[in-house]
Amino acid sequence: MIKPVRFAHLPTPVEPMQRLTKALGGPELWIKRDDQTGLALGGNKTRKLEYALGDALAHGAQTLVTVGAIQSNHVRQTAAVAARFGLSCIAVLSGGQPEAPEGNMLLDLLMGAEVVLTERSRRDETLQAVFDRAQSEGRKPYLIPVGASNGVGALGYVDALDELAGQLQPDWIVFCSSSGGTQAGLALGAKRRAWPGKILGVSNDSPAEALRFRVVQIANEAAALQEMPDRLTPEDVDVCGSFLGVGYGVMIEEDHEAIRLFARLEGLLLDPVYTGRGAAGLIGLVRKGFFHSDEQVLFWHTGGTPALFAEPYAGQVASRL
Ligand SMILES: *Cc1c(COP(=O)(O)O)cnc(C)c1O
Repeated sequence: MIKPVRFAHLPTPVEPMQRLTKALGGPELWIKRDDQTGLALGGNKTRKLEYALGDALAHGAQTLVTVGAIQSNHVRQTAAVAARFGLSCIAVLSGGQPEAPEGNMLLDLLMGAEVVLTERSRRDETLQAVFDRAQSEGRKPYLIPVGASNGVGALGYVDALDELAGQLQPDWIVFCSSSGGTQAGLALGAKRRAWPGKILGVSNDSPAEALRFRVVQIANEAAALQEMPDRLTPEDVDVCGSFLGVGYGVMIEEDHEAIRLFARLEGLLLDPVYTGRGAAGLIGLVRKGFFHSDEQVLFWHTGGTPALFAEPYAGQVASRL
């Protein structure tokens, strides 16, 4: 059993998006504000990190070692947890040397993380080397995988589904699913309480089948850790792979439109990598008539806004205004 350390600002608000609903003319749209989880600009990794930190401290860790892209929101939130609880943080960031530290990477450095840059193709070996060195130096490292998407991290989203159940019972939950931990937790939480709604992850990286498989794996690891009797099968997991675009982190025109619509109709800030894509999926599905007009659809805002302020995204967004 993993005991979390509680530091997130919860419950996050659930709000109607009346102007967006009207503009799209489809089902009633709502939003769950996990961009407001309270940890250094918030985001979905905060809930996962409550469990990861609980496990790390139980193991006597003194250093959090983690990994992500240059604009990783997960790494930024991990750096914040380390700072807040007096641990060190070593972050392996892939994607080459940026011209200047901006957005999330700037915040990683500001919060005292030691950043190790690497190429995407060498990410795993660099991570292993960094971890081994920290261990041999007696720094008591604890490894948090990409996106904190393992059984431990997913437990944060099992709780999150319970939290939502006390706020709203939408017919659909739609969000951007990437490394799969968020969806694993929500789907497991839904199974546990026989939640009648559907949980649809819009993939921004892997093909639908691969992501579905990964979500099941993470969810069942989480269930085993917490000694829950429930197990998922691929049929329990809904993934939409129709909005993959041209690769992880590369914006498509639908992302830009979604970011502008949320900003101008609701005063809500999305991000260029995840929530922009999740919202592009939501908008595309509404326009296709995928949802019944009498349904309630909740968009789960998973955070990420700091990446809006970093290149190449800031320039790309600005050039279309
Ligand atoms: C990590 C992240 C996601 C995806 O969550 P997973 O659990 O990796 O699927 C979505 N949105 C934002 C802003 C993220 O940082």
